[in-house]
Amino acid sequence: SAIFNLQEASRDQVQEFLNSFDTVLSDCDGVLWINNNAIPGSAEAMNYFRKLGKKIFYVTNNSTKTRSEFAIKAQQLGFIAEPEEILSTAYLVAHYLKGIGFRKKVYLIGSSGIADELKAVGIRHIGIGPDNVKPDFKSMTTAELDPEVGAVVVGFDEHVSYPKFMKAASYLANEECLFVATNTDERFPKSSSIIIPGTGTLVRAVETCSERKALVLGKPNDYVRKFLESFGFDPTRTLMIGDRCNTDIEFGIRCGFQTLLVKTGVTSEKDLERMRIERRPPVPDVILPKLGDILNLTSS
Ligand code: PLP
Ligand code: CA
Repeated sequence: SAIFNLQEASRDQVQEFLNSFDTVLSDCDGVLWINNNAIPGSAEAMNYFRKLGKKIFYVTNNSTKTRSEFAIKAQQLGFIAEPEEILSTAYLVAHYLKGIGFRKKVYLIGSSGIADELKAVGIRHIGIGPDNVKPDFKSMTTAELDPEVGAVVVGFDEHVSYPKFMKAASYLANEECLFVATNTDERFPKSSSIIIPGTGTLVRAVETCSERKALVLGKPNDYVRKFLESFGFDPTRTLMIGDRCNTDIEFGIRCGFQTLLVKTGVTSEKDLERMRIERRPPVPDVILPKLGDILNLTSS
């Protein structure tokens, strides 16, 4: 179906659109803010949805912060936000492992966000921080492996290194060891011509050397939908807002949500034009230049 540009809609159509959902899931980086800078109008738009009585969730693939840290960041940038409304991948990892009754230790390629969320649910972890290559790296022995490890978790880790890959793959050689990843984003949102490899780079590396596939919890995978099912929401009356087609819009489509793409993040006008011509999925239902534009289109 054709992409609907909300800016070309009548006020009645905009009103109809606003009435068509009860739950709003919004991506964070690229829709609400970019790094530490709020995108003008986004906080007002999210707070407006809340005023209309919509249930709000902030859904981010960024695994470097806890729910509380994201809530504080959101509040500082003008968003009304509670930790319980933040579905960050660090939290999802802890929620998943707790949900399956995991009691062993996690070998973590990640950062404090995941470590703190694991701690909050009483799950032990090792591996955080630098683990540097030794002169004779092939001399690693099983004495360096912890027999209590029962899961390898991979998220964003700026200290990722060769010894970490060796340990992760060695733990995963035991097929009872779980393999969980936060997300597979290829790159960080671009701010210059420097490419910043995303978590997908690390996940693929561990998948390659372990010869296994990770269970990926972040967008576009539907773990978030399973999480939301406990709230008794209606997928068809849920709107997913994103800036990235292969994570946010793909996720929305897989879950049966309505989808809105904004152009303040990863997807450019050029990308969209190409998608329109080639009708290449995942195509959003609705587009807007920026989320805040919705406020200029409503009559109230
Ligand atoms: N992962 C990391 C480590 C990030 O820093 C970011 C964005 O800053 C993302 C993922 C993507 O986050 P989002 O899903 O909110 O766009
Ligand atoms: Ca994003």
